[in-house]
Amino acid sequence: MKTKIAVAKGDGIGPEIMAAVLRIFEAANVQLDYEFVEMGKSYFDAGHSTGMTALAKETIERLGLLFKGPMETPKGKGVKSINVTARKVWNTYANQRDFRSLNGVDTVFSKAGIPINLTIVRENIEDTYGGIEHLLTNDVAVGRRIITRPGSAQVIRYAFEMARRKGYTKLACGHKANIMKLTDGMFLETFYEIAREYPDIESSDIIVDDLCMKLVSRPEMFQSIVLTNLQGDIVSDLCAGLVGGLGFAPSANIGDNISIFEAVHGTAPDIAGRGIANPTALLLSGISMLRYLGFTTAAATIENSLLYTLEQGVHTGDFGDKAIPSVNTEAFADAVISNLGKTPAKGAVVGQPDMEVKANHDHPSKNKLTVTNANTKEEMIGVDVFVQSNKQPNELAEIAQRKLIDNFHLVMISNRGTQVWPTGSIFTELVNEYRMRFEKKEGTDITQKEILHIAADLSEDFKVCSVEFLMKFDGKIGYTLAQGQ
Ligand code: NAD
Repeated sequence: MKTKIAVAKGDGIGPEIMAAVLRIFEAANVQLDYEFVEMGKSYFDAGHSTGMTALAKETIERLGLLFKGPMETPKGKGVKSINVTARKVWNTYANQRDFRSLNGVDTVFSKAGIPINLTIVRENIEDTYGGIEHLLTNDVAVGRRIITRPGSAQVIRYAFEMARRKGYTKLACGHKANIMKLTDGMFLETFYEIAREYPDIESSDIIVDDLCMKLVSRPEMFQSIVLTNLQGDIVSDLCAGLVGGLGFAPSANIGDNISIFEAVHGTAPDIAGRGIANPTALLLSGISMLRYLGFTTAAATIENSLLYTLEQGVHTGDFGDKAIPSVNTEAFADAVISNLGKTPAKGAVVGQPDMEVKANHDHPSKNKLTVTNANTKEEMIGVDVFVQSNKQPNELAEIAQRKLIDNFHLVMISNRGTQVWPTGSIFTELVNEYRMRFEKKEGTDITQKEILHIAADLSEDFKVCSVEFLMKFDGKIGYTLAQGQ
Protein backbone atom coordinates (compact mmCIF):
# COMPACT_ATOMS: atom_id res chain seq x y z
CA MET A 1 0.00 0.00 0.00
CA LYS A 2 1.25 3.45 -0.87
CA THR A 3 1.79 6.12 1.79
CA LYS A 4 -0.34 9.20 1.36
CA ILE A 5 1.08 12.70 1.80
CA ALA A 6 -0.26 16.21 1.13
CA VAL A 7 1.43 18.20 -1.63
CA ALA A 8 1.14 21.95 -2.23
CA LYS A 9 2.71 23.03 -5.50
CA GLY A 10 3.33 26.59 -4.33
CA ASP A 11 3.62 29.84 -6.27
CA GLY A 12 6.09 31.24 -8.81
CA ILE A 13 8.60 28.52 -9.70
CA GLY A 14 6.86 26.17 -7.20
CA PRO A 15 4.71 24.21 -9.71
CA GLU A 16 7.67 23.85 -12.11
CA ILE A 17 10.12 22.42 -9.58
CA MET A 18 7.43 20.31 -7.84
CA ALA A 19 6.49 18.68 -11.18
CA ALA A 20 10.17 17.89 -11.81
CA VAL A 21 10.65 16.33 -8.37
CA LEU A 22 7.47 14.24 -8.50
CA ARG A 23 8.49 12.98 -11.95
CA ILE A 24 11.83 11.82 -10.47
CA PHE A 25 9.96 10.12 -7.58
CA GLU A 26 7.73 8.31 -10.06
CA ALA A 27 10.68 7.12 -12.14
CA ALA A 28 12.34 5.82 -8.96
CA ASN A 29 9.13 3.94 -8.14
CA VAL A 30 8.64 5.73 -4.82
CA GLN A 31 5.60 4.27 -3.08
CA LEU A 32 3.81 7.55 -2.38
CA ASP A 33 0.32 8.80 -3.18
CA TYR A 34 -0.39 12.51 -3.25
CA GLU A 35 -3.36 14.59 -2.17
CA PHE A 36 -2.83 18.02 -3.72
CA VAL A 37 -3.91 20.84 -1.42
CA GLU A 38 -4.89 24.43 -2.15
CA MET A 39 -2.48 26.85 -0.48
CA GLY A 40 -0.66 30.01 -1.48
CA LYS A 41 -1.08 33.42 -3.04
CA SER A 42 -4.18 32.74 -5.13
CA TYR A 43 -6.00 31.48 -2.02
CA PHE A 44 -5.11 34.68 -0.14
CA ASP A 45 -6.41 36.59 -3.18
CA ALA A 46 -9.61 34.53 -3.12
CA GLY A 47 -10.26 35.71 0.45
CA HIS A 48 -8.81 32.85 2.56
CA SER A 49 -7.07 34.90 5.27
CA THR A 50 -4.71 32.03 6.18
CA GLY A 51 -3.80 31.38 2.52
CA MET A 52 -5.29 27.89 2.49
CA THR A 53 -8.70 26.34 2.10
CA ALA A 54 -10.45 24.55 4.99
CA LEU A 55 -10.05 21.31 3.00
CA ALA A 56 -6.27 21.88 2.72
CA LYS A 57 -6.03 22.30 6.51
CA GLU A 58 -8.14 19.19 7.12
CA THR A 59 -6.07 17.14 4.63
CA ILE A 60 -2.70 18.16 6.12
CA GLU A 61 -3.90 17.51 9.68
CA ARG A 62 -5.25 14.09 8.59
CA LEU A 63 -2.14 13.00 6.65
CA GLY A 64 0.45 14.58 8.96
CA LEU A 65 2.93 15.37 6.22
CA LEU A 66 3.11 18.26 3.78
CA PHE A 67 5.56 18.49 0.89
CA LYS A 68 5.39 22.06 -0.32
CA GLY A 69 6.75 24.37 -2.97
CA PRO A 70 7.62 27.97 -2.05
CA MET A 71 4.69 30.30 -1.45
CA GLU A 72 4.16 34.02 -1.73
CA THR A 73 2.41 35.96 1.00
CA PRO A 74 0.76 39.12 -0.40
CA LYS A 75 2.57 42.22 0.87
CA GLY A 76 0.88 45.22 2.46
CA LYS A 77 -2.40 43.42 3.17
CA GLY A 78 -1.62 42.78 6.82
CA VAL A 79 -1.78 38.99 6.40
CA LYS A 80 0.81 36.80 8.12
CA SER A 81 3.32 34.70 6.14
CA ILE A 82 1.70 31.41 5.20
CA ASN A 83 5.04 29.63 5.60
CA VAL A 84 5.59 30.87 9.15
CA THR A 85 1.93 30.31 10.09
CA ALA A 86 2.00 26.71 8.85
CA ARG A 87 5.14 25.98 10.91
CA LYS A 88 3.70 27.58 14.04
CA VAL A 89 0.12 26.35 13.91
CA TRP A 90 1.19 22.72 13.45
CA ASN A 91 4.07 22.93 15.93
CA THR A 92 6.84 21.90 13.54
CA TYR A 93 9.28 23.02 16.19
CA ALA A 94 12.56 21.88 14.64
CA ASN A 95 13.83 23.21 11.35
CA GLN A 96 16.61 21.00 10.07
CA ARG A 97 18.81 22.14 7.22
CA ASP A 98 21.60 19.93 5.94
CA PHE A 99 24.47 21.52 4.08
CA ARG A 100 27.10 19.56 2.22
CA SER A 101 29.59 20.26 -0.56
CA LEU A 102 28.33 18.87 -3.85
CA ASN A 103 30.65 17.91 -6.68
CA GLY A 104 29.86 20.09 -9.67
CA VAL A 105 28.80 22.98 -7.46
CA ASP A 106 31.86 25.16 -7.19
CA THR A 107 32.37 27.27 -4.09
CA VAL A 108 35.45 28.91 -2.56
CA PHE A 109 35.63 25.96 -0.17
CA SER A 110 35.32 23.23 -2.81
CA LYS A 111 38.07 24.98 -4.79
CA ALA A 112 40.25 25.04 -1.65
CA GLY A 113 39.56 21.33 -1.04
CA ILE A 114 37.68 21.96 2.21
CA PRO A 115 34.62 19.70 2.38
CA ILE A 116 31.54 20.96 4.22
CA ASN A 117 29.04 18.67 5.88
CA LEU A 118 27.01 20.25 8.62
CA THR A 119 23.48 20.48 9.91
CA ILE A 120 21.72 23.46 11.41
CA VAL A 121 18.74 22.85 13.68
CA ARG A 122 16.79 26.03 14.16
CA GLU A 123 14.00 26.52 16.67
CA ASN A 124 11.01 27.14 14.44
CA ILE A 125 8.17 28.60 16.48
CA GLU A 126 9.28 31.01 19.17
CA ASP A 127 11.55 34.07 19.39
CA THR A 128 10.59 37.21 17.46
CA TYR A 129 8.63 35.07 14.98
CA GLY A 130 5.63 35.38 17.29
CA GLY A 131 5.37 38.69 15.45
CA ILE A 132 4.12 40.41 18.62
CA GLU A 133 5.05 44.03 17.95
CA HIS A 134 3.60 47.32 19.14
CA LEU A 135 4.16 50.96 18.34
CA LEU A 136 4.28 52.48 21.83
CA THR A 137 4.84 56.07 20.78
CA ASN A 138 5.12 57.52 17.30
CA ASP A 139 8.89 57.04 17.61
CA VAL A 140 9.19 53.78 19.51
CA ALA A 141 8.36 50.29 18.26
CA VAL A 142 8.93 47.22 20.39
CA GLY A 143 8.81 43.51 19.62
CA ARG A 144 8.45 40.65 22.06
CA ARG A 145 11.00 37.91 21.97
CA ILE A 146 9.49 34.77 23.45
CA ILE A 147 11.79 31.94 24.50
CA THR A 148 10.28 29.17 26.60
CA ARG A 149 11.73 26.23 28.51
CA PRO A 150 9.47 23.58 26.90
CA GLY A 151 10.01 25.13 23.44
CA SER A 152 13.79 25.15 23.88
CA ALA A 153 13.84 21.64 25.33
CA GLN A 154 11.95 20.03 22.47
CA VAL A 155 14.16 21.47 19.73
CA ILE A 156 17.39 20.84 21.64
CA ARG A 157 16.41 17.23 22.33
CA TYR A 158 15.58 16.86 18.63
CA ALA A 159 19.05 18.21 17.74
CA PHE A 160 20.83 15.72 20.03
CA GLU A 161 18.76 12.81 18.65
CA MET A 162 19.46 13.97 15.09
CA ALA A 163 23.20 14.21 15.83
CA ARG A 164 23.17 10.66 17.18
CA ARG A 165 21.20 9.33 14.20
CA LYS A 166 23.60 10.93 11.74
CA GLY A 167 26.64 9.61 13.59
CA TYR A 168 27.86 13.09 14.51
CA THR A 169 30.08 13.38 17.55
CA LYS A 170 29.57 17.11 18.22
CA LEU A 171 26.66 19.50 18.75
CA ALA A 172 27.19 23.22 19.40
CA CYS A 173 24.65 25.70 20.73
CA GLY A 174 24.79 29.12 19.05
CA HIS A 175 23.48 31.99 21.18
CA LYS A 176 23.83 35.55 22.38
CA ALA A 177 23.33 34.87 26.08
CA ASN A 178 25.96 37.47 26.99
CA ILE A 179 23.47 40.17 25.92
CA MET A 180 20.08 38.45 26.11
CA LYS A 181 20.68 36.96 29.51
CA LEU A 182 17.20 35.68 30.28
CA THR A 183 15.96 34.61 26.83
CA ASP A 184 19.11 33.14 25.27
CA GLY A 185 20.23 32.37 28.82
CA MET A 186 17.25 30.02 29.17
CA PHE A 187 18.00 28.39 25.80
CA LEU A 188 21.64 27.83 26.76
CA GLU A 189 20.82 26.55 30.24
CA THR A 190 18.33 24.08 28.74
CA PHE A 191 20.97 23.00 26.19
CA TYR A 192 23.42 21.99 28.92
CA GLU A 193 20.68 20.32 31.00
CA ILE A 194 19.72 18.11 28.05
CA ALA A 195 23.38 17.56 27.05
CA ARG A 196 23.77 15.50 30.25
CA GLU A 197 21.47 12.87 28.69
CA TYR A 198 23.83 12.59 25.67
CA PRO A 199 27.35 11.94 27.03
CA ASP A 200 28.33 10.39 23.66
CA ILE A 201 27.90 13.77 21.92
CA GLU A 202 30.45 16.49 22.67
CA SER A 203 28.43 19.59 23.56
CA SER A 204 29.75 23.15 23.42
CA ASP A 205 28.39 26.65 23.02
CA ILE A 206 29.47 29.58 20.92
CA ILE A 207 28.36 33.21 20.70
CA VAL A 208 26.55 33.69 17.42
CA ASP A 209 28.79 36.44 16.00
CA ASP A 210 31.89 34.34 16.67
CA LEU A 211 30.03 31.38 15.12
CA CYS A 212 29.44 33.34 11.89
CA MET A 213 33.09 34.33 11.70
CA LYS A 214 34.25 30.73 12.27
CA LEU A 215 31.70 29.30 9.82
CA VAL A 216 33.10 31.39 6.98
CA SER A 217 36.73 30.87 7.95
CA ARG A 218 36.81 27.29 9.32
CA PRO A 219 33.48 25.56 8.54
CA GLU A 220 35.02 22.13 8.99
CA MET A 221 35.09 22.81 12.77
CA PHE A 222 31.34 22.14 12.99
CA GLN A 223 29.11 19.11 12.54
CA SER A 224 25.78 20.28 13.96
CA ILE A 225 24.56 23.49 15.54
CA VAL A 226 21.30 24.29 17.34
CA LEU A 227 20.06 27.88 17.55
CA THR A 228 17.05 29.99 18.41
CA ASN A 229 14.74 31.02 15.56
CA LEU A 230 16.06 34.35 14.24
CA GLN A 231 19.74 33.55 14.76
CA GLY A 232 19.14 30.12 13.19
CA ASP A 233 17.43 31.74 10.22
CA ILE A 234 20.41 33.98 9.53
CA VAL A 235 23.08 31.37 10.23
CA SER A 236 21.40 28.78 8.01
CA ASP A 237 21.31 31.14 5.03
CA LEU A 238 24.98 31.85 5.68
CA CYS A 239 25.59 28.09 5.50
CA ALA A 240 23.60 27.89 2.25
CA GLY A 241 26.11 30.39 0.88
CA LEU A 242 28.98 28.11 1.93
CA VAL A 243 27.73 25.23 -0.22
CA GLY A 244 26.62 27.14 -3.31
CA GLY A 245 23.51 29.14 -2.48
CA LEU A 246 19.81 28.71 -1.80
CA GLY A 247 19.38 26.41 -4.81
CA PHE A 248 21.06 23.67 -2.74
CA ALA A 249 19.42 24.23 0.64
CA PRO A 250 16.77 21.73 1.72
CA SER A 251 14.62 22.25 4.77
CA ALA A 252 12.63 19.93 7.01
CA ASN A 253 10.19 21.34 9.56
CA ILE A 254 9.68 18.55 12.05
CA GLY A 255 6.98 18.27 14.69
CA ASP A 256 5.69 15.43 16.83
CA ASN A 257 2.56 15.04 14.71
CA ILE A 258 2.87 17.08 11.54
CA SER A 259 6.01 17.76 9.47
CA ILE A 260 6.62 19.98 6.47
CA PHE A 261 9.36 19.51 3.85
CA GLU A 262 10.25 22.40 1.54
CA ALA A 263 13.16 24.19 -0.14
CA VAL A 264 14.70 27.15 1.69
CA HIS A 265 14.42 29.50 -1.29
CA GLY A 266 11.34 31.48 -2.29
CA THR A 267 9.11 31.67 -5.35
CA ALA A 268 11.81 33.36 -7.54
CA PRO A 269 9.29 35.65 -9.30
CA ASP A 270 12.06 36.92 -11.60
CA ILE A 271 12.36 33.54 -13.36
CA ALA A 272 8.88 32.06 -12.72
CA GLY A 273 7.11 30.53 -15.73
CA ARG A 274 10.28 30.19 -17.79
CA GLY A 275 11.03 26.59 -16.89
CA ILE A 276 14.63 27.34 -15.93
CA ALA A 277 14.52 27.03 -12.10
CA ASN A 278 16.87 24.68 -10.28
CA PRO A 279 14.87 21.86 -8.66
CA THR A 280 17.82 20.59 -6.54
CA ALA A 281 16.82 22.16 -3.20
CA LEU A 282 13.27 20.80 -3.42
CA LEU A 283 14.63 17.42 -4.55
CA LEU A 284 17.04 17.33 -1.57
CA SER A 285 14.10 18.20 0.73
CA GLY A 286 12.11 15.41 -0.92
CA ILE A 287 14.99 12.99 -0.33
CA SER A 288 15.07 13.83 3.38
CA MET A 289 11.28 13.41 3.44
CA LEU A 290 11.65 9.93 1.93
CA ARG A 291 14.17 9.05 4.65
CA TYR A 292 11.88 10.47 7.34
CA LEU A 293 9.03 8.33 6.00
CA GLY A 294 11.22 5.23 5.93
CA PHE A 295 11.91 4.94 2.19
CA THR A 296 15.66 4.87 2.71
CA THR A 297 16.53 2.77 -0.37
CA ALA A 298 14.66 5.06 -2.77
CA ALA A 299 16.19 8.08 -1.00
CA ALA A 300 19.72 6.74 -1.52
CA THR A 301 19.07 5.81 -5.18
CA ILE A 302 17.75 9.28 -5.99
CA GLU A 303 20.46 11.07 -4.01
CA ASN A 304 23.22 9.09 -5.75
CA SER A 305 21.69 9.85 -9.12
CA LEU A 306 21.48 13.58 -8.25
CA LEU A 307 25.12 13.62 -7.07
CA TYR A 308 26.20 11.74 -10.21
CA THR A 309 24.27 14.20 -12.41
CA LEU A 310 25.88 17.19 -10.70
CA GLU A 311 29.29 15.54 -10.96
CA GLN A 312 28.75 15.18 -14.74
CA GLY A 313 28.47 18.96 -14.91
CA VAL A 314 24.74 19.04 -15.71
CA HIS A 315 23.44 22.32 -14.36
CA THR A 316 20.63 24.87 -14.55
CA GLY A 317 21.49 28.50 -15.28
CA ASP A 318 21.96 29.59 -11.66
CA PHE A 319 25.14 27.54 -11.00
CA GLY A 320 27.81 25.35 -12.49
CA ASP A 321 30.55 25.58 -15.09
CA LYS A 322 29.76 28.42 -17.52
CA ALA A 323 31.75 26.59 -20.23
CA ILE A 324 29.08 23.85 -20.23
CA PRO A 325 25.67 25.04 -21.56
CA SER A 326 22.96 25.07 -18.92
CA VAL A 327 19.79 22.97 -19.15
CA ASN A 328 16.24 23.80 -18.16
CA THR A 329 14.27 22.32 -15.22
CA GLU A 330 12.76 19.51 -17.31
CA ALA A 331 16.08 18.47 -18.84
CA PHE A 332 17.73 18.53 -15.40
CA ALA A 333 15.02 16.17 -14.08
CA ASP A 334 15.43 13.97 -17.21
CA ALA A 335 19.16 13.71 -16.50
CA VAL A 336 18.54 12.66 -12.88
CA ILE A 337 15.99 10.09 -14.09
CA SER A 338 18.32 8.64 -16.72
CA ASN A 339 21.08 8.38 -14.08
CA LEU A 340 18.99 6.44 -11.56
CA GLY A 341 21.06 3.45 -10.49
CA LYS A 342 24.41 5.23 -11.00
CA THR A 343 26.67 6.31 -8.16
CA PRO A 344 28.91 9.36 -7.97
CA ALA A 345 32.69 9.02 -7.78
CA LYS A 346 32.74 11.08 -4.61
CA GLY A 347 30.28 11.21 -1.69
CA ALA A 348 28.11 8.25 -2.71
CA VAL A 349 25.32 7.53 -0.25
CA VAL A 350 25.09 4.01 1.05
CA GLY A 351 21.58 2.60 0.76
CA GLN A 352 20.22 1.42 4.09
CA PRO A 353 17.35 -0.97 4.60
CA ASP A 354 13.99 0.74 4.63
CA MET A 355 12.81 1.78 8.05
CA GLU A 356 9.31 1.18 9.24
CA VAL A 357 7.22 3.53 7.13
CA LYS A 358 5.78 6.29 9.29
CA ALA A 359 2.17 6.04 8.27
CA ASN A 360 0.14 7.16 11.26
CA HIS A 361 0.46 10.13 13.52
CA ASP A 362 -1.38 11.08 16.67
CA HIS A 363 -4.47 13.20 16.33
CA PRO A 364 -4.73 14.88 19.75
CA SER A 365 -8.16 15.57 21.23
CA LYS A 366 -7.03 18.78 22.93
CA ASN A 367 -4.16 21.27 22.71
CA LYS A 368 -1.03 20.05 24.47
CA LEU A 369 0.20 22.18 27.37
CA THR A 370 3.67 21.70 28.86
CA VAL A 371 4.70 23.22 32.20
CA THR A 372 8.15 22.17 33.39
CA ASN A 373 7.96 22.99 37.09
CA ALA A 374 4.59 23.83 38.55
CA ASN A 375 6.07 24.13 42.07
CA THR A 376 8.31 27.14 41.39
CA LYS A 377 8.06 29.70 44.21
CA GLU A 378 7.19 33.08 42.77
CA GLU A 379 7.64 36.41 44.55
CA MET A 380 6.54 39.80 43.29
CA ILE A 381 9.23 42.46 43.73
CA GLY A 382 7.92 45.46 41.82
CA VAL A 383 7.13 46.80 38.43
CA ASP A 384 8.59 48.50 35.36
CA VAL A 385 6.15 51.10 34.05
CA PHE A 386 6.86 52.37 30.54
CA VAL A 387 5.56 55.88 29.88
CA GLN A 388 5.62 58.36 27.03
CA SER A 389 7.27 61.67 27.91
CA ASN A 390 9.34 64.48 26.43
CA LYS A 391 10.53 65.61 29.89
CA GLN A 392 14.03 65.30 31.35
CA PRO A 393 14.75 62.33 33.67
CA ASN A 394 14.80 64.36 36.94
CA GLU A 395 11.42 65.91 36.12
CA LEU A 396 9.97 62.44 35.64
CA ALA A 397 11.47 61.26 38.90
CA GLU A 398 9.93 64.19 40.77
CA ILE A 399 6.46 63.45 39.44
CA ALA A 400 6.78 59.71 40.07
CA GLN A 401 8.00 60.19 43.65
CA ARG A 402 5.09 62.54 44.44
CA LYS A 403 2.72 59.73 43.46
CA LEU A 404 4.43 56.98 45.43
CA ILE A 405 2.52 55.01 47.99
CA ASP A 406 4.21 53.89 51.20
CA ASN A 407 5.66 50.50 50.48
CA PHE A 408 7.32 51.28 47.12
CA HIS A 409 10.35 53.24 46.06
CA LEU A 410 11.50 54.45 42.67
CA VAL A 411 14.73 52.58 41.93
CA MET A 412 15.73 53.89 38.52
CA ILE A 413 14.60 55.39 35.27
CA SER A 414 15.99 54.23 31.94
CA ASN A 415 15.66 55.26 28.33
CA ARG A 416 16.21 52.63 25.63
CA GLY A 417 17.57 50.34 28.36
CA THR A 418 20.22 52.78 29.65
CA GLN A 419 19.88 54.21 33.16
CA VAL A 420 19.33 57.98 33.17
CA TRP A 421 18.24 58.44 36.82
CA PRO A 422 19.37 58.54 39.69
CA THR A 423 22.70 58.57 37.89
CA GLY A 424 23.53 58.68 34.22
CA SER A 425 25.34 60.73 31.62
CA ILE A 426 24.24 64.01 30.10
CA PHE A 427 25.47 62.57 26.80
CA THR A 428 22.90 59.76 26.76
CA GLU A 429 20.42 60.58 24.00
CA LEU A 430 16.76 60.21 24.81
CA VAL A 431 13.61 59.18 22.95
CA ASN A 432 10.06 59.80 24.14
CA GLU A 433 9.59 56.55 26.00
CA TYR A 434 10.95 55.96 29.51
CA ARG A 435 10.95 53.02 31.86
CA MET A 436 10.41 53.71 35.58
CA ARG A 437 11.33 50.87 37.90
CA PHE A 438 9.49 50.62 41.23
CA GLU A 439 10.45 48.06 43.84
CA LYS A 440 8.75 47.17 47.11
CA LYS A 441 10.45 48.21 50.33
CA GLU A 442 12.34 45.55 52.26
CA GLY A 443 10.07 43.38 54.43
CA THR A 444 6.77 44.46 52.82
CA ASP A 445 4.31 42.39 50.85
CA ILE A 446 2.64 43.75 47.77
CA THR A 447 -0.29 42.67 45.68
CA GLN A 448 -0.70 42.83 41.95
CA LYS A 449 -3.55 45.29 42.51
CA GLU A 450 -1.26 47.69 44.40
CA ILE A 451 1.26 47.52 41.58
CA LEU A 452 -1.37 48.26 38.97
CA HIS A 453 -2.37 51.27 41.11
CA ILE A 454 1.07 52.77 40.50
CA ALA A 455 0.48 52.60 36.75
CA ALA A 456 -3.03 53.99 37.20
CA ASP A 457 -1.68 56.92 39.29
CA LEU A 458 1.04 57.65 36.72
CA SER A 459 -1.56 57.67 33.95
CA GLU A 460 -2.83 61.00 35.41
CA ASP A 461 0.43 62.62 34.24
CA PHE A 462 1.70 60.37 31.45
CA LYS A 463 0.50 58.04 28.76
CA VAL A 464 1.36 54.64 30.21
CA CYS A 465 2.66 52.52 27.33
CA SER A 466 3.05 49.17 29.06
CA VAL A 467 3.70 47.46 32.37
CA GLU A 468 6.01 44.55 33.23
CA PHE A 469 6.05 42.92 36.66
CA LEU A 470 9.36 42.28 38.42
CA MET A 471 9.45 38.76 39.78
CA LYS A 472 11.74 36.35 41.59
CA PHE A 473 11.49 32.65 40.76
CA ASP A 474 12.77 30.32 43.49
CA GLY A 475 14.67 33.32 44.85
CA LYS A 476 16.33 34.13 41.51
CA ILE A 477 15.78 37.52 39.93
CA GLY A 478 13.61 37.22 36.81
CA TYR A 479 14.48 40.55 35.18
CA THR A 480 17.59 42.29 33.92
CA LEU A 481 19.28 45.42 35.22
CA ALA A 482 19.50 48.56 33.12
CA GLN A 483 22.84 49.44 31.52
CA GLY A 484 24.64 51.56 34.07
CA GLN A 485 22.43 50.41 36.96
P1 NAD B 1 13.84 33.91 -3.67
O1 NAD B 1 14.50 32.78 -2.97
O2 NAD B 1 12.53 33.62 -4.31
O3 NAD B 1 14.83 34.48 -4.82
C1 NAD B 1 16.13 35.02 -4.55
C2 NAD B 1 17.00 34.87 -5.81
O4 NAD B 1 17.37 33.49 -5.95
C3 NAD B 1 16.28 35.25 -7.09
O5 NAD B 1 17.19 35.86 -7.95
C4 NAD B 1 15.83 33.91 -7.68
O6 NAD B 1 15.72 33.90 -9.08
C5 NAD B 1 16.93 32.98 -7.20
N1 NAD B 1 16.41 31.62 -6.98
C6 NAD B 1 15.69 31.19 -5.91
N2 NAD B 1 15.38 29.90 -6.05
C7 NAD B 1 15.90 29.50 -7.22
C8 NAD B 1 15.91 28.26 -7.90
N3 NAD B 1 15.31 27.16 -7.41
N4 NAD B 1 16.53 28.20 -9.09
C9 NAD B 1 17.16 29.27 -9.61
N5 NAD B 1 17.21 30.47 -8.99
C10 NAD B 1 16.57 30.59 -7.81
O7 NAD B 1 13.69 35.10 -2.62
P2 NAD B 1 12.84 36.45 -2.68
O8 NAD B 1 12.89 37.05 -4.05
O9 NAD B 1 13.29 37.22 -1.51
O10 NAD B 1 11.34 36.00 -2.37
C11 NAD B 1 10.34 35.83 -3.38
C12 NAD B 1 9.04 35.38 -2.71
O11 NAD B 1 9.20 34.10 -2.12
C13 NAD B 1 8.52 36.31 -1.62
O12 NAD B 1 7.11 36.43 -1.77
C14 NAD B 1 8.83 35.56 -0.35
O13 NAD B 1 7.92 35.86 0.69
C15 NAD B 1 8.67 34.12 -0.78
N6 NAD B 1 9.45 33.16 0.04
C16 NAD B 1 8.85 31.97 0.32
C17 NAD B 1 9.57 31.02 1.04
C18 NAD B 1 8.88 29.71 1.34
O14 NAD B 1 7.87 29.39 0.76
N7 NAD B 1 9.41 28.92 2.27
C19 NAD B 1 10.88 31.26 1.44
C20 NAD B 1 11.48 32.47 1.09
C21 NAD B 1 10.75 33.42 0.38
